[in-house]
Amino acid sequence: MTKTNNSYFPFLSIRAGQREFMDDVRDSVESEKILIAHAPTGIGKTVAALVPALQYALENEKTVFFLTSKRSQHKIAIDTLRLIKQHTKLNFVAVDVTSKQSMCPRATSVYREFYSLFNEFCKSEQKNKRCRYFLKSDEEALRRIRDDILHVEELCGWCAGRGVCPYKAALEVAERADVVVCDYNYLFSPDIAEMVLEKIEVGLDDLIVIVDEAHNLPDRIRNNLSNTLRMSTVTSAAREIRYIDREMYGNLMELEKIFTKLALEASKNKAVEIGVERDFLLEEMEKVLRRRIEAISYDDFVNTLQSIAEDLETTGEAKTAGSTKDVFSAEEKRILKTLKKSRDSSIRTTRSPRYKKEKETAQRNIINVAEFLDGWRTREKCVRIFSLVPRENPMLYFKLLDPSVISAPIFARVHATIMMSGTLCPTEMYADVLGATPDRIKGKEILMREYRSPFPEENRQIVVTAELTTKYTERGEEMYMKVAGKISEVAKYVKGGMAVFFPSYALLKDIATYLPEDVRSRALVERRKMNKEEKNRLYESLRDTTGGILLAVQGGSFSEGLDYESNTLKAIIVVGVPLSPPTLEVKTIEGYYTGKYGAEKGRLYGYLHPAVTKVLQAAGRGIRSEQDRCIVVLMDYRFAQFPYKQCLPSDYNVTFTDRAEVLCRKFFLT
Ligand code: SF4
Repeated sequence: MTKTNNSYFPFLSIRAGQREFMDDVRDSVESEKILIAHAPTGIGKTVAALVPALQYALENEKTVFFLTSKRSQHKIAIDTLRLIKQHTKLNFVAVDVTSKQSMCPRATSVYREFYSLFNEFCKSEQKNKRCRYFLKSDEEALRRIRDDILHVEELCGWCAGRGVCPYKAALEVAERADVVVCDYNYLFSPDIAEMVLEKIEVGLDDLIVIVDEAHNLPDRIRNNLSNTLRMSTVTSAAREIRYIDREMYGNLMELEKIFTKLALEASKNKAVEIGVERDFLLEEMEKVLRRRIEAISYDDFVNTLQSIAEDLETTGEAKTAGSTKDVFSAEEKRILKTLKKSRDSSIRTTRSPRYKKEKETAQRNIINVAEFLDGWRTREKCVRIFSLVPRENPMLYFKLLDPSVISAPIFARVHATIMMSGTLCPTEMYADVLGATPDRIKGKEILMREYRSPFPEENRQIVVTAELTTKYTERGEEMYMKVAGKISEVAKYVKGGMAVFFPSYALLKDIATYLPEDVRSRALVERRKMNKEEKNRLYESLRDTTGGILLAVQGGSFSEGLDYESNTLKAIIVVGVPLSPPTLEVKTIEGYYTGKYGAEKGRLYGYLHPAVTKVLQAAGRGIRSEQDRCIVVLMDYRFAQFPYKQCLPSDYNVTFTDRAEVLCRKFFLT
């Protein structure tokens, strides 16, 4: 293996584990390998991945695609690239992009939600030369994006201020960029990847791919090819379309009948969920569409719904307020009539806020049906389920079963891939699930590595408590009281802020009921539907209060992705294991992997590991730098038993005890 050339490294010293990781990244880019790296927090993985990848890219005319799953991860990548640029004085180009609709200065909230709707709007605006942002060319705007490394927010602000389309400008610069920081979808969503790569004229074999927080990749790929349709959405879409297109109204009512048919079948089988074949819905729909007066195909049905939703967007936009008498076209009048009839007679003009809101709701419902039916046609293997939960509003949904059908062909074609995360263990599971295995990727070596945390071991203590659990069979008042009591005992000795992460909001509520007053008076509670500002305020209260106790859920915004500054969390309690209920979906995924890898791995891949990853993410919020200290209490005895114990990373040095509070007191005395 070649030794790391550190000339691009912008810091004075290289941390333990970081050098090893950099060597592996360099080896991977030089020898076209796939690296799956479990790199604990604090190792400095962003810079360790970017330095060798960028150096190789510049010397060999490759492009680094730094892919993230969340917008918040862009910042650290861009800040690191700025540091490398300052340090090396090299004139490389790096551009930060997010989705087109999130960068567009003209996107409404509906457009932000529905890509297909937005994309049609954008394409039509470009084609008809109606988008002034798109029409304007501005060398000065491009020059700044090329010369400075801008965060995407800065880029959008700069371009919008100059009347230039930010997305178009970013992609123009990306054509010659050495690094593109972007979302997973730029590579792992086939439609978007094809369009972007064609636009920036880069072939897959020219890409060095870095996947940040790669534990999110399997779910993201699955979710990209998934959709849900509720019966109430079909009913609302039908009602909203009634006065616009009678035939389409009838077609939607037929779709509603298919839901009723499925509900009857489920009830007959005394089941709340039943599997649905791809062809069942297609054939049922085709059958009814053929019987209608204006017989149309399934494709025409989907396209017509899409067009109606698009037309709703332009309807009435340029009108002045006033009577509908002479100002509106016949179609607009029909829509107004529909909206008025269906909801509220106070809607008087296409300018009224009520009209806009109603129009958006109508669009949402109609496009939801169209996108669902469009996606349902996929031939990829999916879990397809009809669910009677809740009974009064059943749903039909599908989700890609095996993410490797998308990721493996990409890994095979790109120059090199680095997948990294602080919770990418066991690496073998991620290799299997994403298809980075020798039988799928011919001629590329696959490296699986687990690096040790660079921080002093004595700064982190991990405790597993005896007797306590959230195991379904042991749940109840008695257990909740014991868990609440132990939280309180531990909290007494914590010097500073702490967080308690529960498996669900329901368990948070159930256990919090029994928390004594001394904990309640310090509690800051995450609620189910908090907006960004509320979450920020909650975080700031925790950071600025001495001894605050955050009560939040595993798998939520407070337990994943959030960087707690300045050792805010001195103690973390993770209550239980957030195992999914044994739904048909979970059983289908488990069964699929059992068929592929045997029963033990099937259970691990389909059931246990997704839950343990959430636990590890939550447990990892405490230590972010060399000086930080944190005690982690895993409050479930299953972590001391097979198979849960085997799911913990190799550097987890665990103490099993029924006196977690004693260890906590000692930890804060040292
Ligand atoms: S061309 Fe640019 S500014 Fe115009 S609609 Fe499309 S993304 Fe928005």
